[in-house]
Amino acid sequence: MLLIPCPICGARPEAEFTYAGEAHIARPVDPAALDDHAWGEFLYARTNPKGDHAERWRHTHGCGRFFNALRNTHTDRFTASYLAGATRPHGTPTTESLDAPAMRSETEQWGQA
Ligand SMILES: [Zn+2]
Repeated sequence: MLLIPCPICGARPEAEFTYAGEAHIARPVDPAALDDHAWGEFLYARTNPKGDHAERWRHTHGCGRFFNALRNTHTDRFTASYLAGATRPHGTPTTESLDAPAMRSETEQWGQA
């Protein structure tokens, strides 16, 4: 069982939480202006990094707050948690940088094997 660090309550068992998808997904300013492809990309295209992944969680059976957490998808360990609306902790790769593999070597993106 995972222990998830709520920024308000501290580490609690995962049964108290609800996963709410990838964090830091910006909603389109004018959704009606998007074509079907762009709308589909907004709804369904998500990163799937091996390493730190910014996730939105809700402490459903606790304080009820939404928050973001960085979980390493390789080790399944949480490395940070912060309130929704706060800036992602310094020194962690952003979703945008993971979307640009041409800017990063495979070793930089995925780490040493
Ligand atoms: Zn909480």
